[in-house]
Amino acid sequence: MKLKAIAAIAFTMATTAAHAQTYPGKPITLLVPFAAGGPTDTVARVTAVTMSKLLGQTIIVENATGAGGTIATARAARAEPDGYTLLIHHIGISTAATLYRKLPYDTKTAFAPIGLVTNAPMTIIGRPDLPPNTLAELVTYIKANGDKMTFGNAGLGAASHLCGMLFMMAVGKEILAVPYKGNGPVMNDLISRQIDLTCDQTTNTTGPIAGKLVKGYAITTKTRLSSMPDLPTADEAGLKGFEVGAWHGIYAPKGTPDAIVQKLSQTLQEALRDPDLVKRFNDINTETVPQDQATPAALQATLVSEVDRWAPIIRAANQFAD
Ligand code: ASP
Repeated sequence: MKLKAIAAIAFTMATTAAHAQTYPGKPITLLVPFAAGGPTDTVARVTAVTMSKLLGQTIIVENATGAGGTIATARAARAEPDGYTLLIHHIGISTAATLYRKLPYDTKTAFAPIGLVTNAPMTIIGRPDLPPNTLAELVTYIKANGDKMTFGNAGLGAASHLCGMLFMMAVGKEILAVPYKGNGPVMNDLISRQIDLTCDQTTNTTGPIAGKLVKGYAITTKTRLSSMPDLPTADEAGLKGFEVGAWHGIYAPKGTPDAIVQKLSQTLQEALRDPDLVKRFNDINTETVPQDQATPAALQATLVSEVDRWAPIIRAANQFAD
């Protein structure tokens, strides 16, 4: 190798190490793939406030919406790998890998994962004046009226899309899907009776269900939540084995220096121990992950296994976007 080339590599390595030492020296942008005021946005903002405090640097939350979250994901994948552009995403990052025939990134390899953040249960909810009062009644109602009904979701690749797809498969009836840029706007239209149904994370639905602004039919966890004792699980209400939850993770672009990845992961772990953050998530019926899950290895393992887990299910449902 020529001396000049060796010197250039040495220079790059030295500046990268120096950057890692002083990181973060300016505000960090955290991309959120869905609209403001929705469930992913809430998880992002709660986490960003605490991580900002710990890092001594502002984290700007930017809602980069569209195409079921793949626009923000693509932007994060091609961002400068310097730790100043991060992505927060949920289970949808793994389903989009199969739903989209072409993506400008390889889901399993495009990122330097930072760690898992939370697991948010999902709830099947309806507009406040939808006639059925229980999940069993809802299933009967859909069988008779499904052709005239609408199901709001946050686009192909959203958790609400996945949950809706599984729900329709379980009920055995297609309902017209209405895609939005996030579940914030879906919730507004459900409350104002523009659409009939959605499946949305507790991070967004806890308040509206408690306030009876929407009808809560079921929760998609294995057992009922003690904080929502009246809401049956989908399984006990008749949809056997219906279980899905939205795990969330934070990602940096592949190539981000390991020292920065480690610093972010340790900060995330510390943030998840913060009593205020834990309380804020508990209040919206969402659990923070254990410390050993807020790590690059745990998120990478989850991402890979989830891509593989959902691929055959999505193929069987024949749901694709070009
Ligand atoms: N997480 C939601 C979903 O996937 C979208 C959102 O956060 O607005 O349905």
